[in-house]
Amino acid sequence: MSAPAHPRPGTASILAVGSELLGTTRLDTNSLYLTGRLEALGIGVVRKACVGDGWNELLAEIPLALSRAPLLVVTGGLGPTDDDRTKEAVARVFDRPLVRDEAILRGLQERFRRRGIDMPKVNEKQADVIEGAVVLANPRGSAPGFLVTAGGGTVVLLPGVPTEMKGMWVETVEPLLVCGGATGAGLHRRTLKVAAMPESLVETLVKPVYAAYPDVPFTILAAPGEVQLQFAARGTPEEAFRVLDRIESDFHKALSGEIFGRDDDTLEGVVGDLLRLKSQSLALAESCTGGQLAGRVTDIPGSSDYFLGAAVTYANAAKADLVGVSAATLERHGAVSEETAREMALGARKRFGATVGLATTGIAGPGGGTPEKPVGTVHIALDAADGTRVHKRLLLLGDRALIRRWTTSTALGMLRKHLLGIPDGGRR
Ligand code: AMP
Ligand code: MG
Repeated sequence: MSAPAHPRPGTASILAVGSELLGTTRLDTNSLYLTGRLEALGIGVVRKACVGDGWNELLAEIPLALSRAPLLVVTGGLGPTDDDRTKEAVARVFDRPLVRDEAILRGLQERFRRRGIDMPKVNEKQADVIEGAVVLANPRGSAPGFLVTAGGGTVVLLPGVPTEMKGMWVETVEPLLVCGGATGAGLHRRTLKVAAMPESLVETLVKPVYAAYPDVPFTILAAPGEVQLQFAARGTPEEAFRVLDRIESDFHKALSGEIFGRDDDTLEGVVGDLLRLKSQSLALAESCTGGQLAGRVTDIPGSSDYFLGAAVTYANAAKADLVGVSAATLERHGAVSEETAREMALGARKRFGATVGLATTGIAGPGGGTPEKPVGTVHIALDAADGTRVHKRLLLLGDRALIRRWTTSTALGMLRKHLLGIPDGGRR
């Protein structure tokens, strides 16, 4: 192999292999995970690429990546089929032969025997090893990975299946990179999350925090019904976390009570933990969200600890029959009204015997709007056994999906504040 041209020390490239990743249905998510792990080790990602299973692209991309960074992490294409060529391609680029490894072969045969089937002949090629490579065990699957070093460049080959790839990365590759001295001052990221607040309002409130840390890179990102504040610090985990903790506490002060979680936290998960912690139970009555609120609540494993049930009361008759909204209320104020929302929340709480009832009713569009009640008009109500009654009227912009997502996020945000005793004074 020709020596890499000018690779920048302490950097890496990522290559995702798989023709399915070039189509319209599958996204390369492996590189996002690997980027986070590499950054935490102080290895910056300078390039990433996605190629199909064809020889031409593989043989072109591997040397190119190695000419840009001394470390290349490749995922995918280690399977047993004809179109799994990653290993052969790296062997060719490094001009190394593939040799059958009898121990790996026996391990593969044993895996199949345990499942009660004879190993198909095609799987034998998974026992081929690039000469001189470190074999990386894959306890979650059949394809082992490899680490090969030559000409100043290192290539790590991992399977494409995300769970297998992640397990091998943490258990095997990182220790090898750390021992090999490939790591530096790590970049550690943190994300704080705010529910159902306009991005521009969040931005206005946190501006002073940005100004207090001129060297820290801040990013504000809006997802439907959620705003994320992202920032990062460099150093050992201890050094970096000290800085990140200080910034986080400043953001909490700037946004008094609006930050619901960080990093992998979800609003429904945080609310679920609070319901459990406070020994509360939840019932829902949903109109415009059609069960999406119940869907989010039950996305959380163990939600049966606090979630009793939901009534999807789309028709007026369902609002009356299932959660006891009065005919007079429906007639006088309409299905999309504060009064209906309040009666739905109370009715759901009583009907299911919960300590908190939460209800949504609104016009998600695109049709059904009127001058008094345009598309995006939503009423959310909370009714608690302790006497708390909260109502919010929203005027949302966007399409049906966005309006419904904002509604569920606002409802969960109201529930969170109720459980924490944070006043919910309707900033909107
Ligand atoms: P492979 O190791 O190429 O046989 O990939 C096995 C499966 O892993 C594929 O069918 C994909 O579903 C998944 N996969 C492969 N590469 C990636 C990637 N870069 N990101 C996310 N999933 C992937
Ligand atoms: Mg593949």
